[in-house]
Amino acid sequence: MEVAVAALNADIGGGPSEVESPCCLCYDPDSDPLTMGCGHVFCLGCMTALLEGRWYGRSGARISFGFMGCPMCQSDISGHPVLDTLMAPLVTLREKVHRMATMRQQMEHGSGSVSDAIREYAYYQCHRCAEPYYGGAVECAAGSETEYNQDDLTCPRCTRLQSPTSLPDTCSSHGTDYIQWKCRYCCSMAVFFCFGTTHFCVECHNNYSKCQAAEKAGTLPPCPAGPVLNGLAGECPLGCAHPPTGSEFCMGCAECRLKEEDY
Ligand SMILES: [Zn+2]
Ligand SMILES: [Zn+2]
Ligand SMILES: [Zn+2]
Ligand SMILES: [Zn+2]
Ligand SMILES: [Zn+2]
Ligand SMILES: [Zn+2]
Ligand SMILES: [Zn+2]
Repeated sequence: MEVAVAALNADIGGGPSEVESPCCLCYDPDSDPLTMGCGHVFCLGCMTALLEGRWYGRSGARISFGFMGCPMCQSDISGHPVLDTLMAPLVTLREKVHRMATMRQQMEHGSGSVSDAIREYAYYQCHRCAEPYYGGAVECAAGSETEYNQDDLTCPRCTRLQSPTSLPDTCSSHGTDYIQWKCRYCCSMAVFFCFGTTHFCVECHNNYSKCQAAEKAGTLPPCPAGPVLNGLAGECPLGCAHPPTGSEFCMGCAECRLKEEDY
């Protein structure tokens, strides 16, 4: 380790000696060295693995962009020409997520900064359309970050396309303001959307691990289902046809539904 650091310091001080510098990550003397803007040297193999590994090793399913910094000093590494093809889509994704997070922050708090926004809101990448989407609070995602099923990471749009009985998740007159979802685990309206996968009512949210365990075990109660795995008697409180407990279901625009009921 000491030797490598000494060699590295010598390189930074000694000008253009890319060829002799071993990679700071694998120390392989035969690797293709790349000198980053910050002066740290890595090999193409290690950088490719780092960028292709994306955020999965750091924040699980939740998108984070720390992996786009130098592994030694965290400076931005997006300027290196050799890494451009790998970097370009990631830079676009980062811009998109930052834009979405700041827009949400504007809407909820009126002002703020990108760094606050991405600390508060969690984004995920849809496994179907590859677009990033809002998936709840970072606070909620913490702790469950390593436990996720790639197939569950589906954006609301693709979820709706997948479930043909779901109503549109955007209203032509009201946008997304009054869109309601069913709680995944019972016949109630959802209040939370968490982990980038799940709409919850308050009670199912408070008992989410119980609900998730029942889903895994295949023991969720059928409709009509009350919060936290309690079967109900009689009619479904939602009063509409919906897919079985354990599925995501968009109920469409509440404002438009109320208007229809007025007639
Ligand atoms: Zn390396
Ligand atoms: Zn560096
Ligand atoms: Zn999608
Ligand atoms: Zn519920
Ligand atoms: Zn939550
Ligand atoms: Zn029901
Ligand atoms: Zn509407």
